[in-house]
Amino acid sequence: MWLHIPEDSDFSIHNLPYGIFCPPGSQQPRAGIAVGDHIIDLLAAADTGMFGKRRFFAGIFAQPVLNDFIALGKPVTGKIRKKVQAWLKMPERPANADIILCDRISSAMMMPVRIPNYTDFYSSMEHASNVGKMFRPDGNPLLPNWKWIPVGYHGRASSIVVSGTPVRRPSGQILLPGGNPDTPVYSKSRQMDFELEMAFIIGKESSLGEPVPIEKAEEYIFGLVLFNDWSARDIQRWEYVPLGPFLGKNFGSSVSPWIIPTEALRPFLVKGPKQNPAPLDYLKTSGKKHYDIHLEVAVKPQGGSETVVSRSNTKYLYWSMAQQLAHHTVNGCNLQVGDMLASGTISGPVAGSYGSMLELSWAGKQPVPLEDGSTRTFLQDGDTVVMRAWSSDGEVRVGFGEVSGTLLP
Ligand code: CA
Repeated sequence: MWLHIPEDSDFSIHNLPYGIFCPPGSQQPRAGIAVGDHIIDLLAAADTGMFGKRRFFAGIFAQPVLNDFIALGKPVTGKIRKKVQAWLKMPERPANADIILCDRISSAMMMPVRIPNYTDFYSSMEHASNVGKMFRPDGNPLLPNWKWIPVGYHGRASSIVVSGTPVRRPSGQILLPGGNPDTPVYSKSRQMDFELEMAFIIGKESSLGEPVPIEKAEEYIFGLVLFNDWSARDIQRWEYVPLGPFLGKNFGSSVSPWIIPTEALRPFLVKGPKQNPAPLDYLKTSGKKHYDIHLEVAVKPQGGSETVVSRSNTKYLYWSMAQQLAHHTVNGCNLQVGDMLASGTISGPVAGSYGSMLELSWAGKQPVPLEDGSTRTFLQDGDTVVMRAWSSDGEVRVGFGEVSGTLLP
């Protein structure tokens, strides 16, 4: 291949994720595809006629979000992907390479989509059990509905930000430790946390009143992003009964800037955990519906170096994305292009694989050591949380890059 792609790059020729970026020195956002240390400027490529219908595609790729491109549907976006792959596989460096390739490292990444609606699920049995044990020590860790329903709630799309955007520690009602258990105070959250999640982006609209059958669910998924669902545990603990998460969650969530198309992840499909009891018919699936994607979370104190505090994998999720989507629409609720549906915290079976500080420090009882000698129960001001994700079979590597964010006071 004429273009050098570092061997360990997340952005191999098998990946080709989509994002919105501003090239160095430009203020004009446009669509791009990451490859190695470069970005293929799709606007510039469309201008050279690479995709035919020059004016049409230039118009699509000049937009500051990918929604209109995604809405063209997989038959069209798949063709664009194949054209880009063919261009990269040309025997010699093409003459238009200089105007189409940008340096990735010095480009600025923007939010890749306008998100009409955001839903957060709760699909990791390990996470739901751990939280159950901590929040309801006297009851069964899993509530009776959990193995029947991919439990979820409607979140807030307005506060979802792209990687690199700082997040402010929220204030709200909390109970003070050792204080009156029925009387809250207004305070900055003292229990700031991350949640390691994978989100998928809807690529096809569904009609109000018409459920999406589970066997068609995957047609509606355009691609995946890494998702950090910042959480204020003390605000959450006081507010969540009986209607669920609210202000402890909706002050900020961070997404990775590159959307990995589902085509790129197909080689990494695996079977999920056995589901017992068997799900109701509308949630029944067979075959490989889960992804084998390695996940890790690092915490980097202000001015310090990072410590990996968790290693997990999306294959641990109990409910697949297809099941989440089928359940979401079973009552006729309609999907819109750009909607983001997140998995919920992805915890694995052992302590080092838990996807939140709440679990890693077991509600603050077991401080987590960092490489600089300090410890964390929850996050401190100035901490940067970095999440990474990748799939690899030893030869083909498809990675997400990272989603990072710094906690401000
Ligand atoms: Ca969450």
